[in-house]
Amino acid sequence: MTKQSHAFQAEVAQLLHLVTHSLYSNKEIFLRELISNASDACDKLRFEALADASLYGDQPELRVRIAFDKAARTLTVTDTGIGMSQDEAVAHLGTIAKSGTREFMARLSGDQKADAQLIGQFGVGFYSGFIVADRIAVESRRAGLPPEQGVRWTSDGSGAFEVEAITRAERGTSVTLHLREDALEYADGWRIKELINKYSDHIALPIQMEGEKWEEGKEEGQPGQMVKTGEWETVNQATALWTRPKKDISDEQYTQFYEQIAHDWQPPLAWTHNRVEGATEYTQLLYLPSHAPFDLWDREKKAGIKLYVRRVFIMDEAEQLLPRYLRFVKGVIDSADLPLNVSRELLQESRDVRAIREGNTRRVLGLLEDLAKAPAAAAPEPAPAADDAAVTDVQDKNEAQAGDKYATFWHEFGAVLKEGLGEDAGNRERIARLLRYASTTSDSANVTLDDYKGRMKEGQKAIYYITADSLAAAKGSPQLELFKKKGIEVLLMTDRVDEWSLSFLREFDGTPLQSVAKGAVDLGDLQDEAEKKAAEEAAEAVKPLIEHLKEALKDSVEDVRVTTRLVDSPACLVVKDAGMSLQLERLMRQAGQAVPAAKPVLEINPEHPLVKKLEGNPHFDDLAHILFDQALLAEGGLPQDPAAYVRRVNALLV
Ligand code: ADP
Repeated sequence: MTKQSHAFQAEVAQLLHLVTHSLYSNKEIFLRELISNASDACDKLRFEALADASLYGDQPELRVRIAFDKAARTLTVTDTGIGMSQDEAVAHLGTIAKSGTREFMARLSGDQKADAQLIGQFGVGFYSGFIVADRIAVESRRAGLPPEQGVRWTSDGSGAFEVEAITRAERGTSVTLHLREDALEYADGWRIKELINKYSDHIALPIQMEGEKWEEGKEEGQPGQMVKTGEWETVNQATALWTRPKKDISDEQYTQFYEQIAHDWQPPLAWTHNRVEGATEYTQLLYLPSHAPFDLWDREKKAGIKLYVRRVFIMDEAEQLLPRYLRFVKGVIDSADLPLNVSRELLQESRDVRAIREGNTRRVLGLLEDLAKAPAAAAPEPAPAADDAAVTDVQDKNEAQAGDKYATFWHEFGAVLKEGLGEDAGNRERIARLLRYASTTSDSANVTLDDYKGRMKEGQKAIYYITADSLAAAKGSPQLELFKKKGIEVLLMTDRVDEWSLSFLREFDGTPLQSVAKGAVDLGDLQDEAEKKAAEEAAEAVKPLIEHLKEALKDSVEDVRVTTRLVDSPACLVVKDAGMSLQLERLMRQAGQAVPAAKPVLEINPEHPLVKKLEGNPHFDDLAHILFDQALLAEGGLPQDPAAYVRRVNALLV
């Protein structure tokens, strides 16, 4: 029989180095990862066997066994799952198939703790064995292949691995770790049991260990010792957590289960666990993570929902079970109604899936509302839908420090939730009540639209907002001057999705939303008659100036007009009411999108000394361009010809 040597894919070698070095202080996770792989392998067999029962062969049992040998310093995890062929062993244990590896590598900071977190999210799985082992031997046979087509894979984790064909009587895989000197504690029954208890209690398969008993020394004076009994005992709960009554599940168990399914070592913010009985029957266990994953903005990222049908694992990342704007939610759905052979394509058309998706959406929004503790009067529950009414056995984990938790949630995932305004018209009202923004009265994003409405001035007819790149740019924008003077609150929006998402929220609770950078300013009843009259007179007086400016800037602006919105600045740029804001235009250009070239409107403040000096000035043309370029700068843009701008300013300075 020939042994073949293969080099690890470069990424694997890099990852191995990283895993062994940065996870050093968190050694014990290797066992969780190996058991999780073993359990996945059993799930895969169960799933493939739905179509071909002969894959079970003469071994109907699916289980994981853990053996150790103190003298030989080994620990072995054996499963009766799907197994691997020789080609699969080379491919799966020598390369990283998952996309995003490079991004993951790029995000590593060198800070052990932070990197360990990232690795957890990424799921290093099998390779974590090398944290505790200086050599790993894997023996495997794929279900359905004859015993002679087994494979042995060995490596010391340094750069290469070897594979050879073996004869293996049993289907499935065994992974043997040759423990390092400093990891001998894992060749111990108590220690292993402790770890199973901690990490793998809810694996829905029996995890077995050989029983041990104490044997006294045979002769006087000889010490006693633990000896194996030869009987395999199941050491975990071996039931799927979500099927147990919630009163029997502790917070700690919920948290551990989350860590296991989400590969996240930080406890979740909150969860909701319900059995829904109605037109379609299912159990939902949904978690809100406490921090965003590194690939939250990956457009391809799928929802973190595992789908089971009557406890049989069907698929990971069942994206049909949640709308995209809730893609940060992790959890498990176990359906009683879907067929076991359901495919992703079938999921798309299934009415049951649609009902589950709507149920999940309602439940997550409800959980968020609880966390946000929206005042009851301001957030009337929509009439419960049919299957909501039949929910039994509800547990929402959210009592403690709900407010803080919502702030954390919003900081991590608020920008994603905002996508829901566009994506989910049916729940737009509920989502709108969950929104939080900074404003001219609050630097932190904690102002709700209800708060804002409650503080509106008498006679104020709109909710005003401004979009900008940063809080500083928003706060300093000339467009806000009149609002500040009048003491009118303006919401400050700095997320990229803000403007797009608000295009779907024209009004909130009967009050229109109005960008302060769009259209002519009309504060209606907030301006008194004297002010209006003064403005009209000023406009009349500068009519010739306006015409001159229009002429000088005709290539850059759509129009020039007098405004009352400015107090301290000479000019600002606005777009027409229906137009795209300059901010959105910039974002779209950055994203490589073609944007129709709409020119902005230049508004001038006739009271400003600079404006007063314009008419008849020998430098009129330069000043006009500077006025325009500065208005662009003030709202976060750049002059079209920065060098020309600098030249003009310098000429005047000299
Ligand atoms: P992940 O499990 O996240 O895909 P791993 O590095 O843990 O990543 O494992 C890589 C691949 O090796 C798995 O996807 C699987 O195909 C295969 N594998 C690992 N352990 C087993 C096992 N016990 N039985 C069968 N296949 C396995």
